[in-house]
Amino acid sequence: MKEDLAAIAAQIKDKSPVEALRYFAVTYPGKIVFSTSFGWEDQVITHMIFSNDIPIEVFTLETGRLFPETYYVWNRTLEIYKKPIMAYHPQAEALQEMVNAKGPNSFYESVENRKECCYIRKLEPLKRAITGKDCWVTGIRSEQSVNRTDMTNLEWDEQNNLLKFHPIFFWSLEEVKAYIKEHNIVYNTLHDKGFPSIGCAPCTRAVREGEDFRAGRWWWEDQSKKECGLHATK
Ligand code: SF4
Repeated sequence: MKEDLAAIAAQIKDKSPVEALRYFAVTYPGKIVFSTSFGWEDQVITHMIFSNDIPIEVFTLETGRLFPETYYVWNRTLEIYKKPIMAYHPQAEALQEMVNAKGPNSFYESVENRKECCYIRKLEPLKRAITGKDCWVTGIRSEQSVNRTDMTNLEWDEQNNLLKFHPIFFWSLEEVKAYIKEHNIVYNTLHDKGFPSIGCAPCTRAVREGEDFRAGRWWWEDQSKKECGLHATK
């Protein structure tokens, strides 16, 4: 499938995000998933999928450390669209072992501990969520892929052996906000308080105006060590 990337890109070239999502849902029936962490980009795509009845499984990584505001958005989204959102939890035993050995906030102590926590709470559950799938839809936008100038809305994920599609990759933040307003989509109010992206509560904070969005994540760490591995190419 990797070889077909150019042909697939040609197929969706003139399609809107909704049309492209439909195209992939038809192309990969039962093998296409969308990962949401309930940020505003994700809420836009969730709205597109649910309100258009596009058969794409929506899932989230329930790390157990999310903000109350995130749980509120999750719950409201279920109430509004009345469609399932699959939650992938960490393996109980691995989590228990880590917390019993190191306490609940070991991620502040070292990069190794932080990566261990991210692996147990996010990466391993993610692996389960996308294993056996052909296409993984995400809410990544180009402004958030500053490490990769060659990145585009369609890519082959070597590590996970599937196609990744980012339907609103070329949208600006202003377009995202306008879409949310126009369609009256429920969104995380932390965005209004200086949070450009919203992850686990202990590891995410607001950023100052003009500050890089990544400054709000794992701010106690060296900049070069700050990826979490969810999008290995990001
Ligand atoms: Fe753990 Fe923080 Fe990673 Fe969440 S972001 S999984 S709390 S280290």
